Amino acid sequence: MTTYKLDDLAYAYDALVPTIDEETMHLHHDKHHQAYVNNLNAALEGVDLKEQTIEELLKNLDQVPAEKRQAVINNGGGHFNHTLFWESMTPGGSNEPQGDLADEINKAFGSFDEFKAAFEAKGAGQFGSGWAWLVLDNGELKVTSTANQDNPVMDGVTPLLGNDVWEHAYYLTYKNVRPDYLKAWWKVVNWDVVAERYSAAK
Ligand code: MN
Repeated sequence: MTTYKLDDLAYAYDALVPTIDEETMHLHHDKHHQAYVNNLNAALEGVDLKEQTIEELLKNLDQVPAEKRQAVINNGGGHFNHTLFWESMTPGGSNEPQGDLADEINKAFGSFDEFKAAFEAKGAGQFGSGWAWLVLDNGELKVTSTANQDNPVMDGVTPLLGNDVWEHAYYLTYKNVRPDYLKAWWKVVNWDVVAERYSAAK
């Protein structure tokens, strides 16, 4: 069986200030994400599964015993989603899409601004905790949202970008005003990483 591990952030905890404050980054990475990893490993203890990545595990949930499946969805989903989230942000990088991805976003949504508005609407409209996504679904770019730690991978769809809309992601800086967080978050998205995911998936 695989023991899943929490990677260190590739940047400092204060690197995304003022968009995301340092205390939120510590709590979110060191406490929330670590708890998903710990709970995932605990759920899989004694379960006979081959060595595999977290993505492979979530793509093939029928290999997980029924009584462990929801724990794997919640905590394995939490591990996968947060890993993708940390990797999607940077203090540098391209702050808007370039090349092919820019063309495809314009084609699918009309413009980058219209894409952002559609993504923010998905995030703001997700009732309770969850995620807003840009996905590649059968070759088509779409915006979606999921509840809790559910994610597109479970449905055979490729996530290109995801924003965490759980209150723990934004409450210290933005309080209850989730739309302000969604709007500010674009300042820290690394579109170079999103473009790499897109190239690999299409
Ligand atoms: Mn989170």
